[in-house]
Parts: sequence; structure tokens; C-alpha cells
Amino acid sequence: MASYDPRVSVSQPIDARLPLVQISGIGPRAVERLAHLDLHTAGDLVRHLPMRHERRLAERTIAQTTSEVHDETTNVRLRGTLARVRTRTGPRTKIEATLEDGTATARLVWFNAGWMRDKLHPGELGVAEGRAKIRQGYLELGNPRWIPEERAGSATTDASDDLRPIYPASEEIGSAEIEAIVKQILEGVCQSIEDPLPAPFRHERDLMPLADAWRAMHAPNNHDELAMARRRLAFDELLLLQLGVMMRRSQLRSRTRAVSLPCNQSIDAHIRQRMPFRLTAEQDRVIAEIVSDLAQPLAMNRLLQGDVGSGKTAVAAYCMMLAVANGHQAALVAPTELLAEQHERVLSAMLAGTDVKLRLLTGSCSEADRTAIIAGLARGTIDLVVGTHALLEEGVAFRHLALAVIDEQHRFGVRQRAVLRQKGQGELPLIPHSLVMTATPIPRTLAITLYGDLDLSTLRGKPPGRTPAITRVVDSSKAPEVYAYLRTRLDKGEQAFIVVPAVEESEQEIKDVATHMNFLANGPFRGLSISSVHGRVHRDQREATMQAFRSGVISVLVATTVIEVGVDVPNASLMVVEHAERFGLAQLHQLRGRVGRGTAASLCVFIGDSTTDDGRERLLAIASSDDGFTIAEQDLKLRGPGEVFGARQSGLAPFRVANLATDGELLRRARADAQAWIERDPELQRPESELLRRKLMATHGSALGLGDIG
Ligand code: ADP
Ligand code: MG
Repeated sequence: MASYDPRVSVSQPIDARLPLVQISGIGPRAVERLAHLDLHTAGDLVRHLPMRHERRLAERTIAQTTSEVHDETTNVRLRGTLARVRTRTGPRTKIEATLEDGTATARLVWFNAGWMRDKLHPGELGVAEGRAKIRQGYLELGNPRWIPEERAGSATTDASDDLRPIYPASEEIGSAEIEAIVKQILEGVCQSIEDPLPAPFRHERDLMPLADAWRAMHAPNNHDELAMARRRLAFDELLLLQLGVMMRRSQLRSRTRAVSLPCNQSIDAHIRQRMPFRLTAEQDRVIAEIVSDLAQPLAMNRLLQGDVGSGKTAVAAYCMMLAVANGHQAALVAPTELLAEQHERVLSAMLAGTDVKLRLLTGSCSEADRTAIIAGLARGTIDLVVGTHALLEEGVAFRHLALAVIDEQHRFGVRQRAVLRQKGQGELPLIPHSLVMTATPIPRTLAITLYGDLDLSTLRGKPPGRTPAITRVVDSSKAPEVYAYLRTRLDKGEQAFIVVPAVEESEQEIKDVATHMNFLANGPFRGLSISSVHGRVHRDQREATMQAFRSGVISVLVATTVIEVGVDVPNASLMVVEHAERFGLAQLHQLRGRVGRGTAASLCVFIGDSTTDDGRERLLAIASSDDGFTIAEQDLKLRGPGEVFGARQSGLAPFRVANLATDGELLRRARADAQAWIERDPELQRPESELLRRKLMATHGSALGLGDIG
């Protein structure tokens, strides 16, 4: 008689939270091995999805297979007895074995796999799987998988091949063992899964029930079913994140207020008068979108994206002046000191002759300046402030901050954004409007996902009077020719940026600012006025250098990527990027955006030796397109969202199934659904939202700060 086992049997419903130790049928050794993969509960195991599925091939005899396989390499599965096993050593170890099944003999060969030798025992029965071709009249399998009989399972005689899951495994536990354990508990776990999406909702969207989806992810009957299962799980992931960002937005809206900043004709005319140029129709359109938000007593939360050089600064300046016209403060935050200095210069030129108080607050400020600025902001005697992260620091408080503009958002995490929001909450629920600008065009799918709580404005085109840069990609062996050609143009009075990856000399052969500047000054650019900037140059000197470059006193500026974002020197028409293969596509596009700002025909040369096809392809992709959106999409495909936009640093839980590069359509669907859902039930408090709410809180609650705002 079986003794009483207090553990849960695999034949009954299994709660996903149940620790694996408490399930009878999973031995303590297996539990331990699974722990190495960080799998502790039944749910962990079911969420541990296969990386892919392989066809479990139908078995045929060796004779039959030999007659079916022709010139092409084919995947086969053969059952038989290992006969001879021989090892040949030499520059490459080669193991040869023969497999017999009574109908014929096949050859199995392994190259450079000495460790296989111990796994092959003559006389052993088992299954060989792998790619086969005919050689010298024999069926030959190259580097096949050898599965001894006791683990091989029964023959699949079914005509259709079935799909076998391949799991992420570890040294302690292999895919086959994981497969066996999952098989034991899958049904039980699936039986206890409650579907958060009501049946009619699912039917309308052609989504399979959740339990079926989990079942099919592990053990699909066919590829179609697997695709449907993926779609269901991806939809849930996208929906959940969209619900999260929208709930956050709705909470911000219902629990906070912002100052309304109305505009009228007289204010508008005054602001335009201050601009050094006439705003383009595109700028007008985007400004109108923003201004209508700013008139509301609800905090604006808008992302302004526009390609490099599209003229975002003027849009920001307009809005900041509107805040001041309404008697409030505005702040502009930039990712680098260089850019903050430039913004301050542009704004102060616009405000010349007015009594608007504008200050610059960066890490380079003297202690006395810093103290004075902080006091001025708190007292309200400073109207506009431009700065870097220093502005986001503890201790900086405003008297009545109505608008915060953040330039180049992709450099800031979601968290920093949250910090700035809290500034100026003198009367608790009052928060500033926020305008986030990015020149790294974020593919729409990603923008929605990461910053789904933002409204989106897009500034298209460029202001008149600019010629896009011609881009060339060359090997480093061509560098001398590049510099010789540049010299001819520099001699005619043009100006160049030369970008190198490193500030300081290092062991690796990477060009650094000082060494490269020396090389240029004593070689190809001898006699020209040449200078350098990088992040570690002191502010006064940096400002002086930039000013000298802007005014044409310096013809060549050697720099690190500090000039990557935002730097605007319309005269500069030449750019060289050294070691271009080390930069991301979007980054190269940004760099290139520093030229092509004036009317002169600009040239941008990427010097790079890419060792891989991929690297080559990346550089060519950028050479062939001048459109930041196309390039960003390309970058997303080549590198994945985590790499491209710091999605990993965003603090949000990553997707298991959804793929932003390919699930755009599903994302739009999920977004629309989330929007409707939140409009109906903003706090997800209705009974039908209960399951979703619980899942949402568990997945994104803390990262999004849901429920703890204001
Ligand atoms: P980005 O969108 O990359 O921040 P900027 O705001 O730096 O672009 O603008 C790029 C250049 O275009 C600057 O030199 C700016 O003075 C110029 N510019 C912006 N708007 C206009 C306009 N309406 N007419 C002419 N030049 C403009
Ligand atoms: Mg800019």
C-alpha cells in the first residue's frame, strides 16, 4: 500500500505559486537542479518557455532513408545499434561510428568533439538525429545527436513530425529533463489558470484561452497552434504594460493639478518677435498641439520627437516664454553641459533687452553661483533656468515651476523624469507640465511602450536652407586620402568636426583626442587652427573653444561624442568619425546631424573596419539613409530594443514573448484596448478587472509607481 504523501499530486490542479518541492513526482534532486535556473515554483517552470521547437522526426529505416536522401542535406532520425567507433586524432579530432539497423549501415561522424568519445559505446542501442547526406554510397550524419535507447522514447511512426521543445538549460539540468518535468505538471498548472480576459473579448480578437496558450507553448500540436499561443501571450504582455502606463497617467491626472498657461494673440506675437527666424509650418503645428495642452489645468506629459536638426529648440523656447508670460517659471534640462551652455546662449540671445531672468545651472558652476541660483529659483526671482542633471538634484526647489522641458530624453531614465515632476509641488498636488524632446527618433512601437504615458508630437522635415550631408563609409586604410581631401576643403575656409571614441590614451589601439589632434596638427592639417573638446575640459575653456569654432577662428575641432547631441554650429560642413564601427547607428546619425546645418554641401565620412558582415551592413544602412526613423527602425532590428534605447535601464519588466520589432500590429491593438479599458474602469476596480489588476500590480506596480502618486 502506498504511504501517505502530503505533497500535491500532479494529477490535480496545481497552483502556480506552489513550490516544486511540494509536488509529488518531482524528486528532491530535480528540485535542486531546477533551482540553479532560478525555477522554484510550478509557475516558474511553466513560464520557463522553450527557446524553440524542433521537429521530432519520423523514424524510417536506414535503407529507406538512404534511398530518400539525395544530394541535399536532410534532417533524419535513425534508430539502430552502434557498431564500430573509431577516433582519429590530428589537427582536428574526428570520431567515426557506424550505425546498423538490420536494413543497412549509416556513418556517424563528429569533428572536434573529443568529449563525444565517452558517450559512444559499441553495441549500444539508440537514436541518432541530425543532418544527413550521401557520401561514397553511405548515408552519413555530420555531428549528430546521439540519444541512448533508455532516453530516446518510443518511435514516432506518425507520418507528421511532431514538435519537441528545446529549453534553456544549464550544466546541471538539460533540456530533455526539463521537458520531462514540465510534462508532468503542465496539465495541473493549466487547470488552475484563470483567464483575465473575458471570453467575448477574446473571441472578438481571436485570442486563444490563456491555459491553452501555456499548454501549446510547451507542447504544440503544430506550428499554427504555437503561433496562436505566442500571439496570446504577447498580447497579454503588451496589454498589461499599456494598462500600467495608462493607469499611471490617469492617476496623475486625477490626483494632481497643473497651472494653466493660456496663450493669446498678444503673447504669441511677442514671443514670435523674439525668434531670430520665422517658425516653419511644422513648428507652428507642433507648437499649437503643445499650447492647447498647456492651457489645461492638467499636467501635460508630451514627447516631442524630431529628427536631428528639425528645430526642436525653438519649439521649447516658445513654450518656456509662454510660461514666463504667464508669470511662472520654466526649466530646460540637457544631457551634457555643452548642450546646456548652447541652449542658454540661444535663449539669452532671444531674451536680450527684456527683463526676463535666465540662469545656467550645471556641475561647473561655482559654489557661490550655485547657491545664488538655487535661492533665486526658490524665491521666484529667476524665471528661466537651463541646466544639466544638477537641476534634478536634491535641494533644488522652485517657487512656481510651470513647465519642465527635458532635451534628449533617451539619456534619462524614467526615474529621473519622476524626480523632476515632483519639483515645485509647493501646494501638494500642483506639478509642472513636462515636455520631453528627443532627436533619437524612437520607433513608434517603442515610444508607446516605454513612454506610453506620454502624448506624442512629431516634428517632421527641417527648416529651410539646409543641404543634407553626403555620407561615405571607408576602411581605415583610406584615412590618409580622406584627410588629404578634407585638407583641400579646409583650405577653402570650411570647418570640420573629427570625432574619436576615447578621451584618453589606452592600451587598445583606439584613437584618443590628444594623440589624434597631435597627429592631425603635425600631419595632414599642419598649419591649420585646430582645437579639441571633451567632457573633461573645464567649462570656461570649453565655452571659449566652442565660441572660437562657431566664429570660424578654429577650423578643425577634434572631439569625443560630447558633441553628439544637439550641438549646433551651422558653418561646420565636414565631419569624420574614427572607429565608426564602435558606435550605434542612431548615434552615428546623431553625429552626422552636426553637419548639413548650413547651405554648404556637407560631407560626413565614417572610417571603420567592421570585422563582421553585420557591422558592415550597419554602416552601409546609415550611409544609404538620411531619415532618422528608418535608421532607428533598422537599429531596433539589428540590436534589439534593450540595447538601442536603454529599455533595460528603464526598470520595466522585460517581455518574455512579445517582440517590439515584429509585434507592432499587436501592440496597436493592445494599446487601443488598454485605452478603452482604462476609460471604463480607471482604477481597474470592477470585478471583471480584478485578475488584470492583480497581474498588473505584480508585474509593473512598483516600476511604474502605481498607486503611490501624490
Ligand atoms: P534639433 O531639433 O536637432 O534640436 P535645433 O533646434 O538645434 O534642432 O535647430 C537646428 C538649426 O535650425 C539651428 O541652427 C536653428 O537655429 C535652425 N532653425 C530652427 N528653426 C528654424 C527656422 N524656423 N528657420 C530657420 N532656421 C531654423
Ligand atoms: Mg536639439
